[in-house]
Amino acid sequence: MIVMKFGGTSVQDSAAVNRLVEIVRKKIHLHPVVVVSALSKVTDTLQKIANQSYTGDLNGALALTETLQERHILMASQLLSENQPYLEHTLSEIKEYFVKLREIAGVVNILEELSNKSMAKILSFGELLSSYIIYRTLNNAGVKCDIADARCFIITDDEFLKGEPDYNAIRELAPIALNLAFEQSDVVITQGFISGTKNGLNTILGRGGSDYTAALIGMAMNADEIEIWTDVDGVHTTDPRRVENTRSITTMSFSEAAELSFFGAKVLHPATIQPAIEKNIPVRVLNSTEPHKSGTLILKDEEVQSCGVRAISFKEDIVVINIFSMKMLNTFGFLTKLFEVFGKYGVSVDLISTSEVSVSLTVDTDLNLDRVTKEISRFAKVTVNYNKSQVSVVGKNLKETKGLAKRIFGAICEHNITMISQGASDINVSFVVNKEDLDSVITALHKEFFE
Ligand code: ADP
Ligand code: ASP
Ligand code: MG
Repeated sequence: MIVMKFGGTSVQDSAAVNRLVEIVRKKIHLHPVVVVSALSKVTDTLQKIANQSYTGDLNGALALTETLQERHILMASQLLSENQPYLEHTLSEIKEYFVKLREIAGVVNILEELSNKSMAKILSFGELLSSYIIYRTLNNAGVKCDIADARCFIITDDEFLKGEPDYNAIRELAPIALNLAFEQSDVVITQGFISGTKNGLNTILGRGGSDYTAALIGMAMNADEIEIWTDVDGVHTTDPRRVENTRSITTMSFSEAAELSFFGAKVLHPATIQPAIEKNIPVRVLNSTEPHKSGTLILKDEEVQSCGVRAISFKEDIVVINIFSMKMLNTFGFLTKLFEVFGKYGVSVDLISTSEVSVSLTVDTDLNLDRVTKEISRFAKVTVNYNKSQVSVVGKNLKETKGLAKRIFGAICEHNITMISQGASDINVSFVVNKEDLDSVITALHKEFFE
């Protein structure tokens, strides 16, 4: 079997869903499990609905809910207009979902309480709605399809907004649920992003998590391939929406893809590759608007004969923290003490560089940062710099590539560089620049290495 994941833009309207139907139809013989995201931007809107209900603007939240309902109804009506009774039934189910959403928004508003648990429940409506409409559309188009609720087999802990998958439980439950669904159908559709605890509570995998769902299902089902259908034809040399003349990379290794997504390339969720590596399942990134293009194939490291720089990724908004303490000089235990503080508040550090008396590091969120800096300032001097961006040059055997640093920093010599870190791995060199320089830095680097 194969897994085919369709992201938000690939299901954004009726034209996109019609393309999906034809793409899936051609793969029926491969027994696809189709994983879908919410329609593009719907998760953002649901987040706003939750926040407005909480902050007292229930009318605003209900108005947004209405626009979402109209969008889903319009899409279903366009897709199923030729089959009126079938459409009517579909529309009444869609309206049921919105009755529930309004109910939850009302409760959040009355109680003035928005727990992570409630937020996870609210954000799950996007995928529940999209999967239901596409399930109905596939069947109406003659593709025999069943639907499986991902919350029953993508099992996580109770970290509601970023559930940690329980691989063993998923390995056990996903084949049971999905094989049962395959008994009566050629295709099974399920939701990306949403998950559940062992006790049946609704969790989510974190933003952009549908790719991760696809990989977890691929692992649990021993899939032959995981296809990520998106709005670009594969992983490019850098983000094609930010730099001109990028090109799609034909094949890349699991490590390169993992590094690229970890350091900011949104085309894949950073956790996606791990389950694929576990079972050595090829991952293909494809364009749903140009399905004939071959996209990018991501394979085991040994199977990819590449060398040198392969791609450039970036994170636009990061924070640089500088820590200075004379106590660092000739003492031990300082770094342990420092990182314990980050650990205590669950803030993960991306880049680090140290000197005798100072440490610079980067984080990509300001969540809990006040608490971290307050605690560190008890034993060291701390400064925080916002408006920075992080750029990573990713490739294979970079340490053995002579003259690499000269080429990278020569190409961007007119810009200020705040911090440099050559990855502990052999596959990335990362550095920090001012946010306003980001576009010209990535454009210059792209010219240097790929044009
Ligand atoms: P989906 O909704 O299908 O999951 P995403 O928006 O999450 O799609 O990811 C696709 C986007 O990733 C592209 O539109 C592109 O702007 C961005 N992107 C960033 N870096 C890269 C890259 N190196 N190659 C391709 N796309 C990239
Ligand atoms: N719909 C979710 C999000 O927007 C998950 C995803 O699209 O991968 O984050
Ligand atoms: Mg995505």
